[in-house]
Amino acid sequence: MPSSQTGELNTYPALDVRGQFDLVIAMADDFRATAVEERGDIIRVFFGITADRDGARAAIEPHFPVAPIDVPDEDWARRSQEGLQPVTIGRLTIVPDPQSSNSDVQSAVRVVIRPSMGFGTGHHASTRLCLEALLALDVTGKRVLDVGTGSGVLAIVASRLGASRALGIDSDEDAIRAARENLAYNSEATNLSFAVADVSTMQGAVQRLLGQADIVTANLTGALLVRSAGCLLGATACDGVLVISGVQIPERDQVVAAFAPSQVISERGADEWVALVMKRA
Ligand code: SAH
Repeated sequence: MPSSQTGELNTYPALDVRGQFDLVIAMADDFRATAVEERGDIIRVFFGITADRDGARAAIEPHFPVAPIDVPDEDWARRSQEGLQPVTIGRLTIVPDPQSSNSDVQSAVRVVIRPSMGFGTGHHASTRLCLEALLALDVTGKRVLDVGTGSGVLAIVASRLGASRALGIDSDEDAIRAARENLAYNSEATNLSFAVADVSTMQGAVQRLLGQADIVTANLTGALLVRSAGCLLGATACDGVLVISGVQIPERDQVVAAFAPSQVISERGADEWVALVMKRA
């Protein structure tokens, strides 16, 4: 949960640091940094709780100029909307409300995703298909990149399924803000960060924050997947796996062709949507 409340206004504990990116991230990671944003020559690092932020500050201060900041969440009121029903997929349940009682949710993996905080509550067919695909893969110990993370749902679930590290990127700043907020509601999700980046220019950020991904999830659109196939394959380790969705049935063959010679290893459909699991050639 965001760490502090001042009346209606929630804030995120963060640090603004002027320093060498890799070193700052390495130090911040020891204090469970949840996200990082490059703002000109300032690196803004977010934390789930103030105690972690303060710990990181003490660690970074001897090396680089650092200032604590509480970043206001101006969208809080809009987002505090009525809850949706939980969604259960196999051993996973996505609940809309951090307060929802545990008693009626017996799932092995329980993830909180607030409604109307970025696209992806688990209710959309293409999100569900991606979640099913993730549940069927062995995520344990894998590095997972979630492109177009929206609410952060796939990245947070990947982390809960045992990913060694997960990174969610989205070109929409509001989505990344929502994903970070959702991350704060899921304290068991670790080794996970979010960054604002476009799929076409994400390479640098992905290399810095994750390295090659063993699993890439991309629930985008057919047209964007076709355009971005090269970037997505470039981010995937040899023998890595891509979970791609947001594809409509008529777009399916064109999307598969764009990822050739990678092969489809499994496929799921619901309504007019298709999700493909492909092995990088
Ligand atoms: N991953 C979530 C959300 C999918 S919605 C889920 O599975 O439910 C698609 C997301 O892709 C949106 O949040 C949108 O902002 C993002 N997106 C669209 N175009 C993008 C681009 N060019 N680069 C990165 N993200 C993009």
